[in-house]
Amino acid sequence: MDIHEYQAKEILSGFGVRIPPGGLAYSPEQAAYRAREIGGSKWVVKAQVHTGARGKAGGVKLCSSEQEVFDAANGLFGKRLVTQQTGSQGKIVYRVYVEGAVAIERELYLGFVLDRSSERIMVVASASGGMEIEEISANQPESILRTVIEPAVGIRDFQAREIAFGLGIDPAHIQEAASNIKGSYRAFRDLDATMVEINPLVVVESGSIVALDAKMSFDDNALFRRPEISELRDKSQEDPRETQAADRGLSYVGLEGKIGCIVNGAGLAMATMDMIKLAGSSPANFLDIGGGASPERVAKAFRLVNSDKNVEAILVNIFAGINRCDWVAQGIVQALEDNPVSVPVVVRLAGTNVEEGRKILAQSGLPIIRAATLAEAAERVVTAWTKNQKHNVKLVASS
Ligand code: ADP
Ligand code: MG
Repeated sequence: MDIHEYQAKEILSGFGVRIPPGGLAYSPEQAAYRAREIGGSKWVVKAQVHTGARGKAGGVKLCSSEQEVFDAANGLFGKRLVTQQTGSQGKIVYRVYVEGAVAIERELYLGFVLDRSSERIMVVASASGGMEIEEISANQPESILRTVIEPAVGIRDFQAREIAFGLGIDPAHIQEAASNIKGSYRAFRDLDATMVEINPLVVVESGSIVALDAKMSFDDNALFRRPEISELRDKSQEDPRETQAADRGLSYVGLEGKIGCIVNGAGLAMATMDMIKLAGSSPANFLDIGGGASPERVAKAFRLVNSDKNVEAILVNIFAGINRCDWVAQGIVQALEDNPVSVPVVVRLAGTNVEEGRKILAQSGLPIIRAATLAEAAERVVTAWTKNQKHNVKLVASS
């Protein structure tokens, strides 16, 4: 789960990381009021959307008067911000963060990620932070500092100082930088984060060190024990298909293709997506219904996939071990009887209670295309999809 910059800043500030004064606004009037509260003569108005690269997309505006703050906020609210990271659909701005502008001397990069090869939290830092960090990591990978943290002892003072030195921080401010680094690490560890990124961490003209941007992501599987974090979820920033699926306890990832997939097991779901590609089309989603799925759960999964406007054919692929083919079949029939679909449906069942499952499908009288193997299922769904497309084109042409 991702959160907004202002939420990440509030969390990090609680762990001793220095941030500029700022306040959230839901309207241009409130934004101008925030600027007055903060004081000073320069502010930045920042779109709060779940993406990076807002600066390059016009989502961060420097302002020199309350009127400018009002106008900047007015221009951002309701706007669909398309950044390098959002895809063409962008993200809509419903909140802005107003922050005192900082006199930046240098922009640094500080990130914390899970390093899967060492199975540890890794600190990634660079003396050249800011909006060009992607190019720097591609062109000068040797300039990136990496430090692995031993979980049993946590981040050591010397490690934090070493990183600060590596970033070229003035000796008088090493301690301050180190406490920002240690605080970010503790926030990561204590709150089950999967990522903390401060880009840029800046050296201010006075020499002090401040986090100007902050991003945090959290482990979805740990949210049950972090109610204060799960409250920060902002569904307006998520793919609506994924939000619906998460609310129904299904493991779902929306994709760009046309074939909706309902599969049990993540490995089989990946293999199914590969086979659809091989057969000449693309999957519209990844969906794992999990083990021991009840007919109701299968029906929910079916309705979810069918409600996606991109879906032009559906493939159900079940290799039942803990699952039961008869329950899956009941779920499919239930979903199709409640909401008849206009797209071809291909079902492949194998494993536990497969005979009963096949019988339920056959007796339902529904126009379900059956397949015996995964390869056959993928081929049949792509063939049916192609035919349906041609048919639809003809209908459009003759109407
Ligand atoms: P993003 O990473 O989404 O583009 P940032 O918060 O990093 O958004 O802002 C982009 C750039 O805007 C920063 O690299 C920094 O140069 C500038 N900036 C952001 N916040 C401030 C601030 N409070 N004062 C001065 N400049 C800022
Ligand atoms: Mg940034």
